[in-house]
Amino acid sequence: MSYDENWPPTPPRRSGRGNLTIAIAALVPTALAGWLVWESMSGPDENEPPKALPSRSAAVGKPAPPATPSPSASSTTASPSPSPSPSKGKPGASGPLAGRVVVVDPGHNPGNFQHTSEINKLVDIGTNRKECDTTGTSTNAGYTEAEFSLDVSQRLRTLLEKQGATVKFTHTDDRPFGPCVDERARIGNKAGADAVISIHADGSATGNRGFHVILPALVKAGAADTAKIVGPSRDLGERIAGKFVRATGSAPSNYVGDGTGLDVREDLGGLNLSTVPKVFIECGNMRDPKDAALLTSSNWRQKAAQGMADGISSYLDR
Ligand code: ZN
Repeated sequence: MSYDENWPPTPPRRSGRGNLTIAIAALVPTALAGWLVWESMSGPDENEPPKALPSRSAAVGKPAPPATPSPSASSTTASPSPSPSPSKGKPGASGPLAGRVVVVDPGHNPGNFQHTSEINKLVDIGTNRKECDTTGTSTNAGYTEAEFSLDVSQRLRTLLEKQGATVKFTHTDDRPFGPCVDERARIGNKAGADAVISIHADGSATGNRGFHVILPALVKAGAADTAKIVGPSRDLGERIAGKFVRATGSAPSNYVGDGTGLDVREDLGGLNLSTVPKVFIECGNMRDPKDAALLTSSNWRQKAAQGMADGISSYLDR
């Protein structure tokens, strides 16, 4: 069974599609053709080294390097601060993403399996109340989604930090369970993140294959108000999907999103409560043997992280 935030899978919401998706739907009848369109639209720079990108620190209007030091994000889990950090970015960092903050949210937690009563407690996600967190899925051989998401998250952090970004995690397996989905959202918010990615793998039927990126729907209820993030999150998600195709060679999902690799959801607390651009990615289907062979390959996970890093870089450097 997949995590509750993605199971059972919901049908694609055509009303939420943007121009790019509509263009794909109009131009290409099959998922394979959509795959090719993704590849052609995902930009020319995927094989270029980071140094080929224009210097972020030299760009007009970007924040200057902070004057006060902050703890290294690479060695600590992001802890909620009382207010948005006045010193975004890592002091002294250089590279095209210097001064940019990316929050990486490894889906679930390996300890969730031992803390089911805690993670089953309901939290307020604005639109309704929902379980704090879930265990996530696993391959048939027992490689868990929580392990997978932490591994890919760490690879992604390394790639982003090489470009100068400040990377914060919602957790690093340093706590017994969770965080709850509402806290995961707040960590990104309080970090003042320029982009947030929540990393998952799905648990669907055998034969269901491929990745998809989940975008926030327009919701306004209780503490949830996504009006300001729907547009930028779609931009972020489309870039990640395109780069993910190029880096991994994987096709978009054949069971969610009509071959576009995109889905829009209004039932995810992690998206509903976010005030900063945020997407989820389901990297593949752990319950499909062919996808599982990819997800359990460290070589493929590195490619997956590269695709995410390329997409995030493209979004932040736009
Ligand atoms: Zn998950």
